[in-house]
Amino acid sequence: MKPSLLDALQQRTLLGDGAMGTQLMLAGLEQGNCGEAWNLIHPETVLAIQKRYADAGSDCILTNTFGGSRIMLNRHGNAGKAVAINRAAVAIAREAFGGRDGYVIGDIGPFGGLLEPYGDFSEQDVREAFSEQARALVDAGADAIIIETQTSLEELRLGIEAAREAGAPCVIGSMAYDVTRDGSTFRTMMGIDPERAAEFMQEHGAHIAALNCGTGMDMEHARQAVVRYRKVIDLPVMVQPNAGQPKLVNMKVVYDETPEEMVRGVAPLLEAGASIIGACCGSTPDHISAFRHAIDCHEKQTV
Ligand SMILES: [Zn+2]
Repeated sequence: MKPSLLDALQQRTLLGDGAMGTQLMLAGLEQGNCGEAWNLIHPETVLAIQKRYADAGSDCILTNTFGGSRIMLNRHGNAGKAVAINRAAVAIAREAFGGRDGYVIGDIGPFGGLLEPYGDFSEQDVREAFSEQARALVDAGADAIIIETQTSLEELRLGIEAAREAGAPCVIGSMAYDVTRDGSTFRTMMGIDPERAAEFMQEHGAHIAALNCGTGMDMEHARQAVVRYRKVIDLPVMVQPNAGQPKLVNMKVVYDETPEEMVRGVAPLLEAGASIIGACCGSTPDHISAFRHAIDCHEKQTV
């Protein structure tokens, strides 16, 4: 029988996957359209992307449900399909492994607005949306849930609670940090530093503390975040940095850090104690394949 995700992390470092959003755009999704609806209308395209990650050696694949809460889906008139979209996403990610053991991580991204009193959404609205999404992902068989690209502790808490109440076997909290203008440190848009976020995740019952995306957060900054997390908590740490900085080329957002450049950061991340290493915006199956090789080489050297 497949060990649980947390048990597997006791044995070895796991490889995550790469970007979904930028891959969907390459497959023809237009900016601003609903990529999550493709789980229902173009499942073969989502499957093909995730299969490439599985073939590149990913141990964990995130479901294509970043904007899969009813609040986000409502922007596209798809709120009523929230449960179907999330359930389909788990089945597609599972199928991508082709019968091999792998971990499907149900993805919950930000709800896309601000909580009262700064914005229009009550805590109850967000709690209900996250609960519905988390339940659909868990009922469909996700091995874990990640609450990702978070910048505020209030929203993170609602996500972690929803995932726990849904019975998720493993809950991952993942923050998006921005490197400060002087380059000396990094914190979220809402001013949360990594130590505070990590302690908050542990206090609220997350099983894995993570970071993803952000601005200026390259592999070296991800390594620094791992070190800073591990100073204050004893949870496993997961990282998914972007493939470099977004640049605007011909009105399109491009990420241009190559697999060769990015993979140099893998061994230092392993040495810092990262337990799951994947990548976020702009990364491709080639990046993940390079990571696979680097993780395997590192494990051979340390055995
Ligand atoms: Zn990203």
